Amino acid sequence: MNSPEASSYDSPVGDLVQRLTQSFTSEHSRPPKWIVAAPGRVNLIGEHIDYNDGFVLPMAIERYVAIAAAPRNGSHPHVASIRSVNLNESDQIDLDLLPEPKLPPTWCAYMGGVFAGFRDRIGAEKFGQLPAMDLMFESNVPIGGGLSSSAALEVATATLLEVVSGTTLGLDEKALLCQKAEHDYAGVPCGIMDQFSSVFGQENAFMMLDCQSQQIRHVPFDSNGVSVLITNSNVKHELSGGEYAQRRAQCDSALKKLAAASWRDVTPSMLDSKKQSLTDVEYSRARHVVSEIERTQKAAVAIESGQWQALGELMYASHHSLQHDYEVSCCELDLLVELARGIGLAGGVYGSRMTGGGFGGCTVTLLDSEKVVEVSNHIQKQYKKQSGIDAHLFASLPAKGAHLISC
Ligand code: ADP
Ligand code: MG
Repeated sequence: MNSPEASSYDSPVGDLVQRLTQSFTSEHSRPPKWIVAAPGRVNLIGEHIDYNDGFVLPMAIERYVAIAAAPRNGSHPHVASIRSVNLNESDQIDLDLLPEPKLPPTWCAYMGGVFAGFRDRIGAEKFGQLPAMDLMFESNVPIGGGLSSSAALEVATATLLEVVSGTTLGLDEKALLCQKAEHDYAGVPCGIMDQFSSVFGQENAFMMLDCQSQQIRHVPFDSNGVSVLITNSNVKHELSGGEYAQRRAQCDSALKKLAAASWRDVTPSMLDSKKQSLTDVEYSRARHVVSEIERTQKAAVAIESGQWQALGELMYASHHSLQHDYEVSCCELDLLVELARGIGLAGGVYGSRMTGGGFGGCTVTLLDSEKVVEVSNHIQKQYKKQSGIDAHLFASLPAKGAHLISC
């Protein structure tokens, strides 16, 4: 169950793997011995409540980081020599003297953090026996677009080290090891959603992640002609760092005033009865948290029972709450959601919302699969006309988590 399972090339990752195999073979004059892949993710609903004891409901997407690797001819120097095809850059990790964390992180640091976690896990002696190797990786997860290319890179690296060292990690353990790499080596204090999604992803299922207990539950998604459209606004407003810390502080202060130990203990009626004890801003933030926790639970029920219209309404309500109560949207995201809403049920759109931290990044839209091309073209054209910006769009169904492609 835990071991990465080999799959054939005719998966969503197939083209990427074929291209990477050719690049590796021509650069190193030998084919790769191991190929692994790990997906990015998108969160359908449950935003800004991961750090408030809430739920998130992500799926792995049909976009992957793939790594090809082979032992080096000769064991010296004892390094992993790595090439990023996307960035056309090379770097290396000394396997006898792993790098210390250093900020700002390079892409190699994300991988170095996973190597370090792996050494701690399997012990220096076994780690020292890993062969010197050549690695090459390529990704079709947009880099820096809020779809977790960083977690995909970490999880792909961990999957590679599992097969190279002959060690199978527990799935939780693997996700947590990668999360630690992101904390310690990239300096990003992320929650557990990104790495868990990339590890646990399944075709035909969303993942309901309880951020309080860290328990994950697959929510079966019988898509039956329904798809998820991801639209990258291609804007990133730089105020997000300070704003994020401020939202956290406002939530903490509101929770204290509500005299509750966890947001899970706060009901909508309790919030309203204690409204006077909060500032207006605290009340708005609290209303987002409490209502989003409720919406996310309802969304899981809607997915299981195929109630797409109800799910779509929850997505619009989530966006409204993020826009007005939590105030983390921006005009470009609002425009994308309004364009989707304008198409409406008659045009095959059920719902749409911003996804991720906000102030830019992506929206996620639920729609009829047969309308994907029409809807994408309309949104792209109108977004360009009204904002002057090119959006990037692609549809995805829930995808398989990290796996071994060949060895
Ligand atoms: P996101 O995870 O939303 O894509 P992040 O800023 O968290 O954005 O992570 C992006 C970083 O991950 C990049 O700056 C780079 O360091 C690393 N990265 C991800 N994919 C690649 C890749 N294919 N090649 C090189 N670096 C990558
Ligand atoms: Mg990231």
